[in-house]
Amino acid sequence: MRTIVTGGAGFLGSHLCEKLLKEGYEVIALDNLATGKTKNIKHLLDDPNFVFIRHNVSKPFEINEKIDAIFHLASPASPIDYQEIPINTISANAFGTYNMLVLTKRNNAKFLLASTSEAYGDPKVHPQREDYWGNVNPVGIRSCYDESKRLAEALTMAFYRKYDIDVRIIRIFNTYGPRMRMDDGRVIPNFAVQSLMGKPITVYGDGTQTRSFCYVDDLIEGIYRAMFKEGTKGEIINLGNPDEKNMLELAEVFKKITGSNSEITFKPLPKDDPARRRPDISKAKKLLGWEPKVSLEEGLKRTLDWFEDELKTKNVK
Ligand code: NAD
Ligand code: UDP
Repeated sequence: MRTIVTGGAGFLGSHLCEKLLKEGYEVIALDNLATGKTKNIKHLLDDPNFVFIRHNVSKPFEINEKIDAIFHLASPASPIDYQEIPINTISANAFGTYNMLVLTKRNNAKFLLASTSEAYGDPKVHPQREDYWGNVNPVGIRSCYDESKRLAEALTMAFYRKYDIDVRIIRIFNTYGPRMRMDDGRVIPNFAVQSLMGKPITVYGDGTQTRSFCYVDDLIEGIYRAMFKEGTKGEIINLGNPDEKNMLELAEVFKKITGSNSEITFKPLPKDDPARRRPDISKAKKLLGWEPKVSLEEGLKRTLDWFEDELKTKNVK
């Protein structure tokens, strides 16, 4: 079976390529390296079942071989990244999703859209279930991301309703692990590097805002099942870890694991920063027989090992 992973050189995409190769699939990774790195897939390049193609998904993609499944992950995900390249972000989610759906239809393939918990915006319903419509600022600084993901969802459902193609949408909640970029600005890389280097840990706002963090291996298993399990056609599925923490608690977990003396400092809360976020994963449990297995402490330990190596390689003191 031949698969395409868009965003295959990114954090999640590279782990997904690895999983698919391990399960015996052929993988074509498409990526324009806007926020991803070839370093993430370097170890896969010798695999005869793996091909990397540098391609901007906003442009149509032509291929002669038959494609069986398309995982559409191409899009910046970190708020710092997508606010830096907002037009690329909208294009990847709007034109990129359209192009991948056209390819899906032409090949009679399966399709998975990597959407996001950001589709719920700053949610007024807690925890978030798939049937909640969200509370999104359509013109705010995060709108290039959350509104374009919502458009990508609408496009996916339009193709599904019009052509009855085999699609599913997953809404991913904050996921972390090895291969996150040290400088991507998300809270896990920031706190990891700060606590490892004994620098102040930067909590934005008063630190009472919450997120629920999922370890990458758990998420990848969820994505894999969402694509290939029976009964997922046309479904919207939350994937994430319901273990909810506020940012002050998270900073304390980092201090505890690393034994760091870093002080906690407070910085202004970015605009439109959602106050709380926790997935209701009952649907994923029922449909996919899936739930996360890796605890926050265990996942963070594995992630900190990665950042420690990164700091050594980059000779950062
Ligand atoms: P990432 O930035 O590491 O990966 C995104 C990849 O997409 C990068 O390799 C980037 O170069 C590529 N890309 C961006 N624009 C492109 C374009 N126009 N054409 C081709 N490639 C392009 O981010 P990630 O954390 O791995 O996120 C992957 C996907 O998962 C994204 O769609 C994101 O919205 C979704 N997601 C991630 C999280 C998370 O916590 N990591 C949460 C919710 C949703
Ligand atoms: N955050 C923080 N300190 C940092 C980076 C982020 O307190 O150095 C907060 C941020 O304000 C948000 C949460 O951590 O409330 C998660 O931010 P991230 O950028 O990782 O992802 P988001 O869920 O906001 O997309």
